[in-house]
Amino acid sequence: MVRTGDRDYHGRMPPAPVTRRRFLLSYAAFAAAPAFCRQVPQRAVVLMCDGFGIEYLETSEMPALASWRERGVFRRVQCTMPSVTNTNNASICCGVLPDRHGITGNSYFDPRTGREEYMETADLLLAPTLFERAQKHGVKSALLSSKKKTTTLLSAGAELILAAEAPPPEWVERLGPAPDIYSREINYWLLTAAIDLLKRRRDIGCLYIHTTDYPMHTWPANSVESKAHLARLDQLFDEAAAAAPDAAFLLTADHGMNHKTRCWDLEKACSRRGHPIRIAISVDRDKYLKHHRGYGGVAWIYCTQPADIDAVARTVVGLEGVETVLIRSEAVSRYHLMASRIGDLVVLGDRDTVFGELDLELEMLPANYRAHGSLHEMEVPLVIHNAHAKLDSASFAGNWQLARWLYAA
Ligand SMILES: [Zn+2]
Repeated sequence: MVRTGDRDYHGRMPPAPVTRRRFLLSYAAFAAAPAFCRQVPQRAVVLMCDGFGIEYLETSEMPALASWRERGVFRRVQCTMPSVTNTNNASICCGVLPDRHGITGNSYFDPRTGREEYMETADLLLAPTLFERAQKHGVKSALLSSKKKTTTLLSAGAELILAAEAPPPEWVERLGPAPDIYSREINYWLLTAAIDLLKRRRDIGCLYIHTTDYPMHTWPANSVESKAHLARLDQLFDEAAAAAPDAAFLLTADHGMNHKTRCWDLEKACSRRGHPIRIAISVDRDKYLKHHRGYGGVAWIYCTQPADIDAVARTVVGLEGVETVLIRSEAVSRYHLMASRIGDLVVLGDRDTVFGELDLELEMLPANYRAHGSLHEMEVPLVIHNAHAKLDSASFAGNWQLARWLYAA
């Protein structure tokens, strides 16, 4: 090589030797670089399949999900008690149990108003959402749900919010009108919206997608209708994964579903047996009454005075189909509930029994009636596909742990 001064024959400057000072300076420059220069967290898609109990997974043909299970993380896990949607949605989204996030049901007794209220507004949620955690890492989030109630409960920190039940005009223009909330097709519309976002809005790093359990309330796992619903969802999961091959997909459910044969009105039953109570609340009661008429497998009882608690408990435990009656402190420690947001007594139905408001104290339910809320609808799947993080399936025991490892502090 012919050298002229410091230049080689092409006239280029030779590379300067890397001194310790230069190395430290370049490291400092990296550390001070704006966030976009640093490694961004992997895109994450959380799929909360409402009512997708383990029996639905086992009975249905879902080839995309089967391949996710084989290649990724798969566990049968327990949902959070009570096995109702809002409690579990909050647990999955916040990564903590109800004693921390405070959502003990779909309904609760508000001592300020003295009335039963829906538990579906963000001010009742006491723990940070997945979206707020993502925000701290510079990640934007989208919250998509078939049901409007989810978008009011879990909205904190989400940049984009879409409820298929009431989509804004720009989404209707894009995808066509959303099907009725009481249909399986609304879940297809929701997933199509999610796929559209995955393709079009790559700046959104975290998507939370919540379907409706109307199909599970309506059809058992072995029915043709349910199989068609889940086969279509599986195709859409596959399309979503193809649209975002970089993304991790995290899937679980809030509860399973069972046929129920009887419903008790606990206020009427207690009153008739000489122990009137202040109020009984079906924890599953929400605004979507066509699904389940507001009946559920768990109820809170508020007594008129503390002295009544023992006698009321003895009365209720004697009703056919009542599996367990717990006093508040026992229920709090067993199920990680928030003491100020449950009744004096917690009543658990057996597999066949639910609680709600009736004209008589007891009603036998039709053969196609399906609901949840009890300890018999707790087993759900947990699947994680394509995560870059090293995850050990043994560390997942509850659905609330699905996404808690994302955006850890
Ligand atoms: Zn649900």
